[in-house]
Amino acid sequence: MTILIVIGTRPEAIKLAPVVRALTAQDAAVDVRVVATSQHRELLAQALAVFDIQPHIDLDVMTAGQTPNRVAAAIFERFDEVLDASRPDWVVVQGDTTTTMAAAVAGFYAGARVAHVEAGLRTGDLTNPFPEEANRCLVSRVADLHFAATARARQALLAEGVAEDRILVTGNTVVDAVGWILDRAPSGTQQAAPDALSASVAKADPDSVSTGTRRLVLTTHRRETIGHGLMHICAAVRTLIERLGPELEVTIPVHPNPQVKATIESELGQTPGVVLLPPLDYPAFLRLLRSSFLILTDSGGVQEEAPSLGVPTLVLRQTTERGEALEAGCARLVGTDQDAIVENVMSLWNDAAAYRAMTDVSNPFGDGHAAERIAAALLGHPIEPFDPARPHGLPAEP
Ligand code: UDP
Repeated sequence: MTILIVIGTRPEAIKLAPVVRALTAQDAAVDVRVVATSQHRELLAQALAVFDIQPHIDLDVMTAGQTPNRVAAAIFERFDEVLDASRPDWVVVQGDTTTTMAAAVAGFYAGARVAHVEAGLRTGDLTNPFPEEANRCLVSRVADLHFAATARARQALLAEGVAEDRILVTGNTVVDAVGWILDRAPSGTQQAAPDALSASVAKADPDSVSTGTRRLVLTTHRRETIGHGLMHICAAVRTLIERLGPELEVTIPVHPNPQVKATIESELGQTPGVVLLPPLDYPAFLRLLRSSFLILTDSGGVQEEAPSLGVPTLVLRQTTERGEALEAGCARLVGTDQDAIVENVMSLWNDAAAYRAMTDVSNPFGDGHAAERIAAALLGHPIEPFDPARPHGLPAEP
């Protein structure tokens, strides 16, 4: 059996690395090949290196000022040659990037079966997130096997007419990735945090409000946030720093998107108490998250990782396709309004009970065994689905 695993961006690398590992650990005669599209070249390479994955093929599509159309066109053309040469049984894609969409459709055109990891995420608004929501829907039309992370994602697929026996609830592979990294790098990281990052900032105890500095980690990169939303987020950070002074440090690993980088550097570059960092490698980033009091993010993956690290999340978006975290109580949907951000941070800053209620939650997105289930299913074996009522792993072997 030949399986091509297509990876274009950092989140795809993080979420597919456990699948690559689980498949290569199988005894079965399976030829697993990793195809990088390099849609985001540097971030992808950084993430793959952490998991010690060397792509077999690199389509090398990234160009300056690229648009989704140009990325898709390059992938259709270059991936077609790979499909022709390898005639895979499965093309495995993850998530909702342009890589995901183009590789899935190209695989379908070439007659391969397409498996979609993290299938069934929906906001119901084709323009938000853009173009990810459309990419998800398109992949669901051509996939043979849909690996839904949660029961909610499964329901979304059923509602669109996807056959029940094509959907498997596996949990999210990012929970496997977090577990793998934390098991192997409990204290160190592969990349030392830059000097500017104050080592004295410990994860603050919400019961001792006045002692020490608390860290807030901010990540933002979404297309819909850029512009008005990002300006409001930066203004909220300045207001919080003014109010809380040395009690607060805001640490921002800045996404390399030129617009994001330029805005954050000009709005917050000179603000005392704000630490701007380059993109961190995954272990360093998880360690940073774990050291924080609160996470502010518009990232999808970070919303799924935070409950494994016991840190509450404020989601800086109008909608989220990850309602599980809102229901479980470990995240709040705040949007990008300046006053709403300040108000929500302050409410948790001063209320230990409200804060604890957000941290004492088990991860609703997975149990750390998603990749095992996905590998087994691709090889045609039956699986026991992920059940959040049994959050500590697979049932014991009978
Ligand atoms: N991440 C990382 N280093 C950083 C910032 C983020 O390794 O400096 C990881 C993060 O843990 C998450 C993924 O990158 O798994 C999120 O990527 P991004 O926010 O770009 O995309 P999204 O999750 O929204 O698809």
